[in-house]
Amino acid sequence: MGLTPMMQQYLQVKEGCKDCILFFRLGDFYEMFFEDAETASKELELVLTGRDCGLEKRAPMCGIPFHAANTYISRLVNKGYKIAICEQLEDPSAAKGIVKRGIIKVITPGTYTDSSFLEDNKNNYIMSLYIDNEKNSFALSFADISTGDFNCTDASLDISVVLDEIAKYMPKEILIQEGLDEKICSEIKERCTASFTKLPEEFFLSNIVDILKGQFPNFNEKEYSSDLVRCCGSLLKYVIETQKTSLSHINNFQYYSIVDYLSIDSNSRRNLELTENLREKSKKGSLLWVMDRTNTAMGGRQLRRWIEQPLVDKTAVQNRLDAVEELLNNLPLHEDLKDALKEIYDIERLVGKISSKSVNAKELISLKASIEKIPGIKNILSNFTSKLHLEMYKNLDELEDVYKILDEAILENPSISVKEGNIIKEGFNEEVDELRKAKVHGKEWIASLENNEREVTGIKSLKVGYNKVFGYYIEITKSNFNLIPEGRYIRKQTLANAERYITPELKEMEDKILGAEEKLINLEYDIFIEIREKIEAQVDRMQQTARIVSELDCLSSLAIIALENNFCKPEINNSEEIYIEEGRHPVVEKMISSGSFISNDIHINRTDEQLLLITGPNMAGKSTYMRQVALTVIMAQIGSFVPAKKAVISICDKIFTRIGASDDLAAGKSTFMVEMWEVSNILRNATNKSLILLDEVGRGTSTYDGLSIAWAVIEYICKNKKLKCKTLFATHYHELTKLEGLLEGVKNYSVSVKEVGSDIVFLHKIIRGGADQSYGIEVAKLAGLPIDVIDRAKEILSRIENDKSSDVNIEEITDTSKNDIQDKMDVTDKVNNKNEIIKENKNLEVLKEVALDKNASEQIDFSYIERENILKEIASIDILNMTPMEGFNKLYDIIKRTKTL
Ligand code: ATP
Repeated sequence: MGLTPMMQQYLQVKEGCKDCILFFRLGDFYEMFFEDAETASKELELVLTGRDCGLEKRAPMCGIPFHAANTYISRLVNKGYKIAICEQLEDPSAAKGIVKRGIIKVITPGTYTDSSFLEDNKNNYIMSLYIDNEKNSFALSFADISTGDFNCTDASLDISVVLDEIAKYMPKEILIQEGLDEKICSEIKERCTASFTKLPEEFFLSNIVDILKGQFPNFNEKEYSSDLVRCCGSLLKYVIETQKTSLSHINNFQYYSIVDYLSIDSNSRRNLELTENLREKSKKGSLLWVMDRTNTAMGGRQLRRWIEQPLVDKTAVQNRLDAVEELLNNLPLHEDLKDALKEIYDIERLVGKISSKSVNAKELISLKASIEKIPGIKNILSNFTSKLHLEMYKNLDELEDVYKILDEAILENPSISVKEGNIIKEGFNEEVDELRKAKVHGKEWIASLENNEREVTGIKSLKVGYNKVFGYYIEITKSNFNLIPEGRYIRKQTLANAERYITPELKEMEDKILGAEEKLINLEYDIFIEIREKIEAQVDRMQQTARIVSELDCLSSLAIIALENNFCKPEINNSEEIYIEEGRHPVVEKMISSGSFISNDIHINRTDEQLLLITGPNMAGKSTYMRQVALTVIMAQIGSFVPAKKAVISICDKIFTRIGASDDLAAGKSTFMVEMWEVSNILRNATNKSLILLDEVGRGTSTYDGLSIAWAVIEYICKNKKLKCKTLFATHYHELTKLEGLLEGVKNYSVSVKEVGSDIVFLHKIIRGGADQSYGIEVAKLAGLPIDVIDRAKEILSRIENDKSSDVNIEEITDTSKNDIQDKMDVTDKVNNKNEIIKENKNLEVLKEVALDKNASEQIDFSYIERENILKEIASIDILNMTPMEGFNKLYDIIKRTKTL
């Protein structure tokens, strides 16, 4: 027994796409076989059947109707699968033997372009990573096939930088070399959900310069590192090989250097919730959620990129700020601009479809409607004088020629399918008009035929109909057969209760109508293709217009949020100082009831207020305060107004945060380990232009280890001349407040609370000076811990505090005459160790006294808790309001519990 010819063909095709699920077109279905069928049936919940394939066992098979394929494809792509689409390459009716078939496209998570399944406001990136171990360098390139974006960068190898760049783009698919270090791969896999495609080293080497020059005619490989050329070449090669179609819209090769943008490491991006919240990973509650008031999908994507990549160039930031201010100063014009933007469709993705030849006539009408708004926008821009607006005005192409072609050629409400006719406007092409007339005339003739024949025959129920097999016919029911004039009709088809007839004239007219219809459909399709090609030749001009519109939309969004939230224009400088008056957290203030957010000031620099040590109770607002400072700086460097009354911001090169828990627990690292890893990353990479936020460093280990680490970190930041950068340090180690005055640049701040009886009220106000209490127990009470636990905790605390005698001698340790950090740390370590031993021994004594049953030897006994509970319960018994039975039951219960003690 041998394989059937069809199955032989299937296996041949499958050989070329082993890593894909093969959608094999058979008639109106895409069929999957063997392992692909098993996978697809499981993932898509399809019935798994079998098909004779010539072998003993039937081949497992499942299928989907071709017209519904998109939904299934998107489900598989979202799960990280690749799909190869194999089509019939010739008309089955004209084929001799088995129909020719071949793969027309490979759809992968990173090259997916179906706009109905892509998120409007998010790019869909595919990325290539090339690492050269010998040179210790790397290159990254990113492309969005749906919009034509193509960005790349390179640097010396530092895995944290690679991870940070990946965190910025969050690609859906990553191309890597087959032999890439497993450790690097797993580091990347831990941090993003992209699917990985491993390619042989050869793929990154052969023919790549030609490919790059083919796509970007001005590309000069000598201007870039070999890593970069390999990385970009491989990405393009992969995209071309999978898409198997023109990609003329990928025409803008954008190289950037890592230092061109504010560096925000991947943990900080997450912690600061720039584009998604930490919990649900959704937009709500993120900075993007507050800032995104764009009116176009392109603007939405652009704003996301702006937030992911704040600027470091002062002039560029200033230009954006000035443009936002100009919009705010011209509110009526801004209103007109918003109205125009609302009418603009996703030109970028429409252009992508034109380039990949998948656009339909309805989408061209959307393009036309968008272009129609451009002259109005240009007119609005003509009123503005800020640098960015002037540039936009100068470069905004109104695309009149493209508009004219579309307006003249395409019907306002055309068919969705390009192969059904009903696309071309009357007056655009004479032949189309003629054919349409013939069709209409024929149809009118047929419409009148029914009445004529009824009159002639007297058969009121006579009908003229049409079906695909027999064409036009006259239908007469059985009961009227006797009325049919002799020889008038030719019988064509017999039904249960009627006969269908034709006449020679009817057939002649039918031929005319159908001939005209077929010709018309073909002609309209040909004209449509001609128009599409004409427009495709203008892809770069349309992209330029799209870029300007999206940037303008972002500026408009920044103006809207500034106005609605009462933000102020920050003053940008390079003075190494940040001053914020009445600053607010842009997200928290929107999440809590209106007007209840308490504003706070900050003044931080590299001299006398370099490291602000913030103490204060839990829940007081320390993290919120630190985050708001970072977000304000980020917003300013995006070019946005900021949530404050006044703000002076010096440009930062990097922002680091060590705030909150990290989710690397799943990756097998303990909370403390992750914390230390992050701190070490900060200390190694921060510069004197960076902003560092450290929240409770050291809390993940024993008190004295933690305190020592926190202390040493502070010293390192303040004393290292190359670093000495602006730092906010929140801590519960009140001992550290003694560093003010001893370490230059350290200033104590705290968040104020008010005690009301045994409770506390959070004032959320940052004040000068350190806090002396943590109020942890009071906060625990607010969180609803059982009152017994709270009371007991207070008791334990007071006993520990009363018995505490040996405190850490800060003055002794911080010998300001010594500058060498290492020396200092040696001393610090010794004293800490000594203090720790003394103090921990002491504390243990106290705890033992409290918790140990005095008569028992070493065994900790918690029965005292139950004893006290019983005593409290007895004291609270209201004997006068109990029935004798209730009193008896209570007594019984107490006796029973006492026996267990
Ligand atoms: P912990 O030490 O326990 O981490 P914390 O001091 O860092 O606490 P935050 O998490 O910053 O406290 O703030 C706790 C809550 O207090 C916030 O969720 C917010 O609702 C509220 N809050 C913080 N700052 C302010 C403010 N300035 N105005 C109004 N509410 C605030």
